Amino acid sequence: MRTKYIFSLLNGKPMIHGLPHLIYRKCGKKNCKCAKGNRHGPYAALSINKNGKQRIAIIRNADTYPVMKEAKRYRYFQETLSKIRKINREIDTLLEKIKVETTNEYPGP
Ligand SMILES: [Zn+2]
Repeated sequence: MRTKYIFSLLNGKPMIHGLPHLIYRKCGKKNCKCAKGNRHGPYAALSINKNGKQRIAIIRNADTYPVMKEAKRYRYFQETLSKIRKINREIDTLLEKIKVETTNEYPGP
């Protein structure tokens, strides 16, 4: 499974930093439907986490398809990397346990 995950990340395709996100907004006009809670949208956006700070970047209409595609790739990469790291930790814990249980001191007691 881990090998399959790793290979799925080796395609070298471009990604965009940010998670795909849909937002709804108010336009600010007093008599608009959005003033009563029926907001405009959805608009494609990116949720970008940099140095612990989160910001939202709205994607221009003309860029929506390629940017969302590359952001989805980024999301997949992040999720798969997390799975790989979890398996790595499990392997490490297991090997450490085997080492401790099968290693004797010389000379013995
Ligand atoms: Zn409005």
